[in-house]
Amino acid sequence: MSAKILSAGDYIASRCSKCKDSTNHTIVAMVGEKVVKVECNTCGSIHNHRAEKEKKPAKSRATATGGKTRTSASASKTKREWDELLENAKPEEATPYSMQTPMKEGMLILHPTFGLGQIVGTTKPNKMDVRFQSGVKLLRCTLA
Ligand SMILES: [Zn+2]
Repeated sequence: MSAKILSAGDYIASRCSKCKDSTNHTIVAMVGEKVVKVECNTCGSIHNHRAEKEKKPAKSRATATGGKTRTSASASKTKREWDELLENAKPEEATPYSMQTPMKEGMLILHPTFGLGQIVGTTKPNKMDVRFQSGVKLLRCTLA
């Protein structure tokens, strides 16, 4: 795949819940190479990016009418927690990670290596647990 690297300000097709259609959107916020927030060029609403088509793996069809699928619990839990974080997060308000910036629990930060993360716990005098897309990491910091 040689997909063009997107960046904030680029156009992208996304599903708009107001327009109830796939419309042209302007990218508002990115996390790494992932488009997170987009602005609808038709109605102007800003929302989380939804790809035009989200094909579920074929195997989910078999269980669609039945009970729950039991996939590898911890991996999907990490992903689910991350998805929930992104649903509520405002990446454009994230604070760039720096030892000079006082950190506190609940803050959204932008790490140069790990990307967007939310502080889920702190340990005095200078440690914090941050949930990133890849999982929770312990980082050094200055606590507020
Ligand atoms: Zn719209």
